[in-house]
Amino acid sequence: MTNNELQKLVEEVSLTSFHLPFKHQAIFNRRLKSTGGRYHLKDHHLDFNPLIVEQHGLAEFIKVIKHELCHYHLHLTKRGYKHQDQDFKQLLKKVDGSRFAPTVSTGKEKTYLCKKCGQKISRQRKIDTNRFVCGKCNGKLRLIA
Ligand SMILES: [Zn+2]
Ligand SMILES: [Zn+2]
Repeated sequence: MTNNELQKLVEEVSLTSFHLPFKHQAIFNRRLKSTGGRYHLKDHHLDFNPLIVEQHGLAEFIKVIKHELCHYHLHLTKRGYKHQDQDFKQLLKKVDGSRFAPTVSTGKEKTYLCKKCGQKISRQRKIDTNRFVCGKCNGKLRLIA
């Protein structure tokens, strides 16, 4: 997904779920690490972690967008925009946003070694070694790092 597509998506979610326009900027920020998104109080722009889309898919990502839009719209209309505020909790529930951003693995890649041919395989996420086998020889994999 490009920044342009992200911007359009946020505008669309804002209109359909909040019936309010999103008039600021939404951008992908690869430096967000484990955070799914961030609302900036000063200039009202939204940052989103591209890993959410990559690792969790669009449906989950839209929930994160809704979460950030709750901060955004409540702050702009001078209502309780913080996580512990009733306004925030109620609005989040109403639009079905995510309470917490899903975890994204940004830590080191996991490395697997094929027991049969010695091929090394790196994956971002942990894989089920009972189900996934070596692509070269179909040998069993073992987590080594
Ligand atoms: Zn939040
Ligand atoms: Zn192998």
